[in-house]
Amino acid sequence: MGITVDNVSKHFGSFQALDRINLEIKTGSLVALLGPSGSGKSTLLRVIAGLEKPDSGNIYVSGRDATHDPVQARRMGFVFQHYALFKHLTIRENVAFGLEINKWPKARVKNRVEELLGLVQLGGLGDRYPSQLSGGQRQRVALARALAIQPQVLLLDEPFGALDAKVRKDLRQWLRHLHEEVQVTTVFVTHDQEEAMEVSDEVVVMNKGRIEQVGKPADIYDHPATPFVMSFIGPVNVLPAASGILPKEKVAASDRVFLRPHDILIQPEAIEEAVPAQINHIVHLGWEIQVELLLESGQIVNAHLSREDYDRLQLTPRQQVYVKPKQVKTFPEYAFN
Ligand code: ADP
Ligand code: MG
Repeated sequence: MGITVDNVSKHFGSFQALDRINLEIKTGSLVALLGPSGSGKSTLLRVIAGLEKPDSGNIYVSGRDATHDPVQARRMGFVFQHYALFKHLTIRENVAFGLEINKWPKARVKNRVEELLGLVQLGGLGDRYPSQLSGGQRQRVALARALAIQPQVLLLDEPFGALDAKVRKDLRQWLRHLHEEVQVTTVFVTHDQEEAMEVSDEVVVMNKGRIEQVGKPADIYDHPATPFVMSFIGPVNVLPAASGILPKEKVAASDRVFLRPHDILIQPEAIEEAVPAQINHIVHLGWEIQVELLLESGQIVNAHLSREDYDRLQLTPRQQVYVKPKQVKTFPEYAFN
């Protein structure tokens, strides 16, 4: 089922949590709402779910106005960061809970629960209690429970946020596969840009209650629409025009130059349009080498090199080199101060 968010605003007291949000979520897609804490991601998810009423604007589900539908009528499944399972019920009973409330016949419940436990790869663990599972397994049970009622839409609010990095990474891949299998329209909230890029077909970047950009992960990274998106998605150097990183005629005095660390060419000898710099530090991360450079203007610039380039250049701390951006972005329509 597709969802249309049409000009939705929401205040809490004098605070504007959502500011005229317009968004199209296609049937069967997996969309990430990405933004810093407080940007309105959870509020938007809750408005879609019907847990929160918008001040103005509408939510359409499959083209039908669902703005005033109660939560249950929307047939949406949820998983939250701390979606506590019922402690005194087994995993099987937890997953069956919503189906029994909906008065499914016993035999159908049994089949559906086994099917779901298989889907979330917890087939053998139905008789355990939540306390006997790991955090990652518990979130998979929560997903199975959310999917049990065959929701039209799955809403996930930082579902892996409380888990450690390794488990989180595994669960992202697992979620992708699960989505390919069940194809249910899914909205996934995260503040972690890598997670958003890895999991979703489409990323919605939010900031201060507004949408900054909607696009495929690669588009958002390669063609950021705003300075916020460029800074939030991936590492970036933000330099004043006076840093001298670009020739004066190529940049207005009031511009900021946004430069990705891997878009910096380092040369031992002077070449056209390269500026002199001194190497401050070199950090080895195995697959990538991070080099901190000091420009003559006193500005620091971070460059990331492949292992190959680094070996070829044989860089050493305090060495004098020349640097040239391969690609930069300025956002002349934005005023910087
Ligand atoms: P995010 O999920 O992106 O971190 P939220 O949507 O939870 O952001 O919140 C956006 C802003 O709205 C936050 O500053 C938060 O404090 C505020 N907010 C959210 N829910 C409420 C509420 N029920 N009452 C008052 N303020 C709220
Ligand atoms: Mg939130």
